[in-house]
Amino acid sequence: SLFRNATFEISVAQSAALPPAQGAEIAFAGRSNAGKSSAINTLAGHTRLAYVSKTPGRTQLINFFRLNCGAALVDLPGYGYAQVPEKVRRQWAGLLEDYLRRRESLIGLVLIMDARHPLTTLDHAMIGWFAPTGKPIHVLLTKSDKLSRNEANKSLFAVRKALAELGGRVTVQLFSSLKKTGVEECEAVVAGWLGL
Ligand code: GDP
Repeated sequence: SLFRNATFEISVAQSAALPPAQGAEIAFAGRSNAGKSSAINTLAGHTRLAYVSKTPGRTQLINFFRLNCGAALVDLPGYGYAQVPEKVRRQWAGLLEDYLRRRESLIGLVLIMDARHPLTTLDHAMIGWFAPTGKPIHVLLTKSDKLSRNEANKSLFAVRKALAELGGRVTVQLFSSLKKTGVEECEAVVAGWLGL
């Protein structure tokens, strides 16, 4: 199990403070409150590895976790907080854009979306920054437990269709941190990126 026993390594607040680009990095991004921290904790089998909080306005950090295989899981700042000043939001967006576009050690992006509200304008911005790198994106449609099976599948197919139309290397799956469903599917995709 790829993400089990991940350990916290370092937090950085700006691009200039990023550790040297060594080894493979897998980034996790998502709109604030989409369920990113919960998904990371579920994948890692750890209740509080990534801090689950709905409090906006904290310093936004890029958190690095080391996986057993030697690769890094990189938890990117949640985006889209409504209550944060425009200037701060722009700084966060700049940090994300820099990292997604330029980080050489980054090999793939796991993008977390709420299955009930996928593909927001900001999700499209993230895809727009990252897809041109030619690296793969895997979308986790989380909180799928809040939908009926039929609604969840509708969301899955709609997001797949919308992203297929954009081209690029994009895969999409359902996930639930509450029910712990979708863990193996996500592990298999990321293991494939790592050549494991
Ligand atoms: P983040 O801001 O993207 O890191 O989101 P969090 O992981 O903090 O989750 C935001 C809220 O959604 C919290 O109240 C979580 O308990 C809830 N949540 C996250 N994932 C799930 C899920 O899979 N199912 C359900 N029902 N709730 C979830």
